[in-house]
Amino acid sequence: MHQCMYGLRTKDAQGEASAYKPTTTVTNHEALAESLSRRCTGGHRHAHLVGKTACTKAAQYPKDMCEAFLKAVAVIKKSVEETHLMGVEREDM
Ligand SMILES: [Zn+2]
Repeated sequence: MHQCMYGLRTKDAQGEASAYKPTTTVTNHEALAESLSRRCTGGHRHAHLVGKTACTKAAQYPKDMCEAFLKAVAVIKKSVEETHLMGVEREDM
């Protein structure tokens, strides 16, 4: 996934721009992997993360990415609850 699609921005010699910062997320959950797999569509300039300050700043996940993550977690929670409910029904039978 490319963090520029989640609003990660940084500054370089040419000014502020999106930061590409490809990140690999390790998850085997489909909903989670899907929400965190945005790939750069281009159409914007990428600034390089240069220097300690830029990299430290980029070490924080962009807000959009956190929201995508939380949304996926909510979906997973719901599906787990549904699975659990079905399990209970099966036990009753
Ligand atoms: Zn990009």
